[in-house]
Parts: sequence; C-alpha cells; structure tokens
Amino acid sequence: MQIFYIRSASILIYAVFTLQCLAQPSVSEVWVSESLLKKHVYTLASDSLQGRETGTIGQFRAAGYCLETFNKNHLQPIFQLDSVGGSFLQKYYFTPALVSFFGRMAVVAKRSELSNPPSAENSQVLFAHNVGGLLVGTDLKNEIIIISAHYDHLGKQGNLIYNGADDNASGTASVLAIAAAFDSLVQQGIKPRRSILFLLFSGEEGGLIGSQYFVAASPFAMSQILCNLNVDMVGRTDWKHRKKTNYCYLITGKSDTELKQTIEIANQQTVKLSIDYSYDSENDPSQFYYRSDHYNFAKKGIPIAFFMDGEHPDYHQPSDTADKINYNILQKRATLIFQSAWMMANPK
Ligand SMILES: [Zn+2]
Repeated sequence: MQIFYIRSASILIYAVFTLQCLAQPSVSEVWVSESLLKKHVYTLASDSLQGRETGTIGQFRAAGYCLETFNKNHLQPIFQLDSVGGSFLQKYYFTPALVSFFGRMAVVAKRSELSNPPSAENSQVLFAHNVGGLLVGTDLKNEIIIISAHYDHLGKQGNLIYNGADDNASGTASVLAIAAAFDSLVQQGIKPRRSILFLLFSGEEGGLIGSQYFVAASPFAMSQILCNLNVDMVGRTDWKHRKKTNYCYLITGKSDTELKQTIEIANQQTVKLSIDYSYDSENDPSQFYYRSDHYNFAKKGIPIAFFMDGEHPDYHQPSDTADKINYNILQKRATLIFQSAWMMANPK
C-alpha cells in the first residue's frame, strides 16, 4: 500500500509540474508573428501613407498608426508634446531635405537640419515626430534597451509613390510586432527585468535627424541606455545570398562584445540564421555603419547592433513594394531581435 501512496504523490507532483510548464511557456520558443508583420508592412507601405515623407500628411498618418499599436500593446507614453506630458509622440522642427530624382532613383542632395520653431526670419521650418513607448522592467527597470527603426521614407514624385516596403516598413513592422510579442508575455505575468524602449524615428532619410533629436532631448539619461538594437531594411535578400536566403547582416562597430555574443547565442538557440559580418567595419566602403539611426547612439558611446538585409535593385525606387517582401525571412530576423532583446533584458 505504501508504494501506492508514493506513486500517487509522484503522479500529483508530475501533474503540477506539467501544468506549471504549460502555464509558463519557455520564452525561447516565442516567435514574432508573421501575419502581424505582414499586416503592418502592407499598412505602412500602402498608397494612403504616400511614401511617409517626413513633415507630410503621410508621415503623420504613419505616426498615428504606430502610436495606436503601442497603446494597444500597453506601452507607457514617455514624451511631452507641446508641454503636455504622457504622449507617445516627440515633436521636433527642421528645415526639409531636397530630394532629387535620377530617373526613378531618389537621392537626398541637400540634407535636412534640425531647427528652432518657425519665425518671421525662418518660415521654411516644418515639424515631424518620433514615436516611442516604454515597457517598464522589474528590478532593473532603470536600465533601458532600445529597439528602434525609422518609419519615414521618400514620399512621392508626381504620381509615383515611394512606398518603402523594405526601407523601412519592414523594420517598423518588426518593432511593432516585437512589442506585441513582449506584451503577450507581460499579459501572462512574464516581464523583463530591464526596461525596453520601442522607438520609431522620422527624419532618417533626410539625414538621421529624428534620432539626432532624440539623443539630444531624450527623457532618459544616456547613461541609462544599455544598448540600441536598430532595424533598417530586413525584409528582402541581396544578390550575394540569392541561393541561401537564411541570413542577416549584423553591424556592431566598436561595440563591446557582450551584445554581439548575446545575439549569437540567441540566434543559435532559436532561428539559426547565418549572421554575415561582411559590412561590420567603420572603414567598409559601403559605410553602412554611418547610414542609419544607430549611428547617433554609437556617437554617444552606446553599444549598437544594426540588423539589415543589404541592398537590392528596388532600393529607393517606387518598386520597393509590400508584395516583394519575404515574410518568412522577415519573421526570422524579427524573432532574432526579439530573442536578443529578451536575453539582454534578463541578465543572469
Ligand atoms: Zn532609405
């Protein structure tokens, strides 16, 4: 009889353990939703957003879509907007870039510059917004990991709309869908120890001015920011990888090795992409290290990781459209960023 009791107890312990496992899913098995990524890319790269040029109605509509998504995912608003606190929007003023067109290729000739508000002497000034929302961590909440992307693009030329599906609806969609993945864990009581700041910049195409403004007017001290994971163009594949598409370029520059090692471990434990460091040099002729918003964090000495897919013939062309995105590879790259951020947010 005794042995029966032991067996019953064992079965009971096993059952409770199994139920606990079911109730607490392993975070390493969580993937960012492919259907959500697709929905966000198609919305952001739709004609109604008119190419999301900074300071235009298309950019304002895109900002509205991003802040609604942040709000739905229970992020905290962190900015003051027109002296009122509790906003997802950070407003700044600038003089606009001049975009030239060589055939259908859009090239910024004259770059944007941050500015004071418009005055009688300077009436050429426009305004635009960054969008940001915070997931507050637990015991290490004052330490912040930033996941960022730019949501602006090149607007339109006559009737030709530059939808910018890869550049950078793909990165924006990644940030929005990663926020949803974090929120699904939070709703199950699983919270990161460090805080995660989700940031979407405008003003990137004209000269990285949205992130330049954020770094200068951040509601947080730069010393609180542990690292910046920046996502710019992650939905396509380049010529070099046309046969082996399971890859992601990673650029970290002179950042410390902890961030790089964490990304490597997260990759091996989850999506198993081939990580390509071909452009990971500040002296690389393609200059990718300087060409997206992470550079403004790197200049402040903050470790950065820049995720991207390389270049393709639709780069800065009206043919960069949502139907050409590889959603399967986009899901893997977004999942790698989510898993890396989770590991960074939960130090052992
Ligand atoms: Zn671009």
